[in-house]
Amino acid sequence: MKTIGLIGGMSYESTIEYYRIINELVNERLGGLKSAKMLIESYDFSIIENLQTKNDWDNLGLILADSAKKLETLGADFIAIATNTMHYVAPFVKKNIKIPLIHIVQATLNQIKRKNHDCVCLLGTKYTMSLPFYKEILEDNNIKVIIPKDEDKEVINDIIYNELCVGIINKESKDKLLSIIETCSKLGASAAVLGCTELPNIIKKAPIDLIDTTKAHCIEIVDRILA
Ligand code: GLU
Repeated sequence: MKTIGLIGGMSYESTIEYYRIINELVNERLGGLKSAKMLIESYDFSIIENLQTKNDWDNLGLILADSAKKLETLGADFIAIATNTMHYVAPFVKKNIKIPLIHIVQATLNQIKRKNHDCVCLLGTKYTMSLPFYKEILEDNNIKVIIPKDEDKEVINDIIYNELCVGIINKESKDKLLSIIETCSKLGASAAVLGCTELPNIIKKAPIDLIDTTKAHCIEIVDRILA
């Protein structure tokens, strides 16, 4: 088994899920007391969020690249960044390491294709929904991407940073998210991409299919470390 180097803490609420899902998948496949070999660098998320707010992606790239190099030196065979948003700096991180980076958008795309969707809506932070890095990869692969309207983007972003990243699961927020998904389904989306690694903590079921990016990423990670 290979070792995964996980860059997490963005937020800890989803890194916990990564740790659990990766170990469970390894155990399901190998049985006995088998579990994953994992190195984790976990950030103080307040520092990351502060730089995001300032749009200081250069420094964020440097910080994550530093972690990736550190994990590589410690013996990781692959790197995974345990958040969708921070994949905005994935190309820079990739350039700084010799080992492969397992990309969350690629894992998400594979899942969308496996389920035969050609039109999805994308829910995530305002960065994930507004910057081109996520949408472009899906569209370049012939997936139509519906982005929620501006006021809905604000609602989703606030729920992520003010509630989900600190473990608050609120019924009212869940209803708001489901109503946004329903609006997107009326516009033609046959699936909703939960493009934020904390969203699966609140949305478990919806009127349309769900693409859980945390799970999709973990499946891809386990495929690679057990290959
Ligand atoms: N974990 C979230 C994501 O998947 C949001 C936190 C972050 O900004 O990294 O995008």
